[in-house]
Amino acid sequence: MSSESELLARVPDRLFIGGEWVASTSGRSIEVRDPSTGLVIKTIADASVADAASAMDAAAHAQASWAATAPRVRGELLRGAFDLLQERADDFALLMTLEMGKPLAEARGEVTYGGEFLRWFSEEAVRISGRFGRNPEGTGRMIVTHKPVGPSFLITPWNFPLAMATRKIGPALAAGCTSIIKPAELTPLTTLYFAKLLQDAGLPAGVVNVLTTSTSKEVSSPIIADPRLRKLSFTGSTPVGVALLKQASENVLRTSMELGGNAPFLVFEDADLDKAVDGAMIAKFRNIGQACTAANRFIVHESVAEEFAAKVTERVRALTIGRGTEEGVGIGPLINDGAVDKADELVQDALSRGAKLVTGGSRVDRDGSFYQPTVLIDVVAGSDILRQEIFGPVITIIPFSDEADAVAKANDTEYGLVSYAFTQDLARGLRLIDSLDTGMMGLNVGVVSNAAAPFGGVKQSGVGREGGLEGIHEYLETKYVLVPDS
Ligand code: ADP
Repeated sequence: MSSESELLARVPDRLFIGGEWVASTSGRSIEVRDPSTGLVIKTIADASVADAASAMDAAAHAQASWAATAPRVRGELLRGAFDLLQERADDFALLMTLEMGKPLAEARGEVTYGGEFLRWFSEEAVRISGRFGRNPEGTGRMIVTHKPVGPSFLITPWNFPLAMATRKIGPALAAGCTSIIKPAELTPLTTLYFAKLLQDAGLPAGVVNVLTTSTSKEVSSPIIADPRLRKLSFTGSTPVGVALLKQASENVLRTSMELGGNAPFLVFEDADLDKAVDGAMIAKFRNIGQACTAANRFIVHESVAEEFAAKVTERVRALTIGRGTEEGVGIGPLINDGAVDKADELVQDALSRGAKLVTGGSRVDRDGSFYQPTVLIDVVAGSDILRQEIFGPVITIIPFSDEADAVAKANDTEYGLVSYAFTQDLARGLRLIDSLDTGMMGLNVGVVSNAAAPFGGVKQSGVGREGGLEGIHEYLETKYVLVPDS
């Protein structure tokens, strides 16, 4: 057997409920495919509504004892999981490349990034503190304390199969919440393999449960409606997030919503252009453009737009397309053929409205779901590609005239997740922190994600933050107590 098939054989193919690996009651299964070949790599359980009820029972049953488990013990479980992840890093990297397609070097980067949420929250578990003070009237004491919000439902997307799971499971465990996680049906294997790792690290039964399903809506709805559930954390598209917020409102759930983005990437005339090009390559091509933080619109001062486009194009033409397991590959496949069709539709719409194609612009003629890395210049306002998330390896360049024009163009979107700006003028950089409508900003850098930082957006990009000091509070309730002096 090859190392790939050996690894795939070690990945569980059942649901993880109440600490047991159980068969689904649906009688159906999910075929997981390698997007670089389109071939099925593993067949796994497809959860039913009855399985969802079992998972909800298990999470509810385990909640009281997990909340009562000493913070140090919760933290040490997470630290043990972090250590095991380092031992199994090669497995997790290869597994993500196989089911999702990203180049192996990037998958290794995701293991590092995803692991940091386990380490960070292992350290936060013992630092959940409150406040204590006299009331303004001077007649008593006010105590503010925190307790776990309760059983949480975690829904994750396919683009970062490990990091999106650890970014939710890490703080839930640290805060004392049990959970049910539902990974995307396109990439469920990493979550199953991660649940096995948690089990090996000593996770008590029912504290984390995994439902893999092809019927997300049917399986999720009764969980979201269950009065024992107290929290919904979702990462995915804005339309699905809006639908889930509506459902969550019926049950008055705490929610964390990491939704879509349409990141502007501003390059001012005083930018270090080589640094901006380096930043552009990572902000655009990390994960083959399939990130909600991917730069979607390159808004470049008209005096440097041509030079920036030329430098970027040279780098884009040097990218190697191939299966993520091959050495030196920078562009793997998109997640499936639908993603290729969507990227191509956006490119063709932009071209039909007057944009100019510099390089790329079509699918790659080979098996698997590949799209050429593409550069478009002079993209016309109103083009779909400026409004929608591209989620593919396409750079769109739009010129601007002055700072006010740049900011207006950057903010001309319903999204507000992340913005990138390149300028060597410190005062301008500081002004941009105020003027850009964004939850996160990279000033002279093309990637901002860090387990120690609050990740999240404004406007249609979501509510709540993951990671950082803020991340654990998404899983904590605040309780206030008044104690009169007499
Ligand atoms: P993407 O565009 O990244 O695929 P989606 O929002 O479609 O994003 O999916 C993100 C996650 O939400 C996936 O796990 C998917 O299965 C899940 N999902 C999609 N629709 C629903 C729904 N109606 N109810 C619950 N989960 C859903």
